[in-house]
Amino acid sequence: MFCVLPAVGPLRIEFSHTVNMKKVAEENPEVREGGRYTPKDCTALQKVAIIIPFRNRDEHLKYWLYYLHPILQRQQLDYGIYVINQGGEETFNRAKLLNIGFVEALKEYDYNCFVFSDVDLIPMDDRNTYKCYDQPRHLSVSMDKFGFRLPYNQYFGGVSALSKVQFEKINGFPNNYWGWGGEDDDIYNRLVFKGMGVSRPDATIGKCRMIHHSRDTKNEPNPQRFTKIAHTKETMKADGLNTLSYKAVKIERFSLYTKITVDVGSPKS
Ligand code: BGC
Repeated sequence: MFCVLPAVGPLRIEFSHTVNMKKVAEENPEVREGGRYTPKDCTALQKVAIIIPFRNRDEHLKYWLYYLHPILQRQQLDYGIYVINQGGEETFNRAKLLNIGFVEALKEYDYNCFVFSDVDLIPMDDRNTYKCYDQPRHLSVSMDKFGFRLPYNQYFGGVSALSKVQFEKINGFPNNYWGWGGEDDDIYNRLVFKGMGVSRPDATIGKCRMIHHSRDTKNEPNPQRFTKIAHTKETMKADGLNTLSYKAVKIERFSLYTKITVDVGSPKS
């Protein structure tokens, strides 16, 4: 039997209360160690690994887990949560962490869909299903930070979903965008150059909130991003899943998520 979605619709999302992780675990008794869940009474349509690039954002992660676990269970997904933590002090590299999440999650289970989510973004409607579609999916289409609109048509940042096949078709994501910005535009270019388009929910279902924060250190805007995104067509073959190198330093299985601390190297290596 396939699962029917018992969606609630619009949700109230706010960040003024403190979140107690022990309580969140108690409120989600069906989530297994490492943040895994499989619907009991029906066959989930997809096996979804949710990949969160991370560094020093524990407060945000608590809200994310508090809000998302109940939503994802209502969406009847066979899912796992993977927080990919960049160790060391080097400049942040979001897209490389996402590539690592893809590889590491597949070592654990036969996932066929990957949702890549920033840690500070929470959907405001549970009809925005965290699954994959015929075309790569952009889920965070209507963010409060951008006045509940897309900042530009090609925007693919925040939360996105690619099937295993779609991800492999574009050679994964770029590994050499260090610092803030551009990597999501490069990913968008990759999809287009491989003949795909972007699927999106409508602006109501796609509403989401971002948790306010000051800019992280070691994640300054990358001044090279404009030149880089102008060359995706040439660079994507030689930068991606086929050139990914990193070291997994530590794997921790908590009750609500799996945390993988990695050494991503440095811009020179
Ligand atoms: C950056 C993207 C970013 C977007 C919205 C663009 O200029 O290249 O990485 O997601 O702005 O902030």
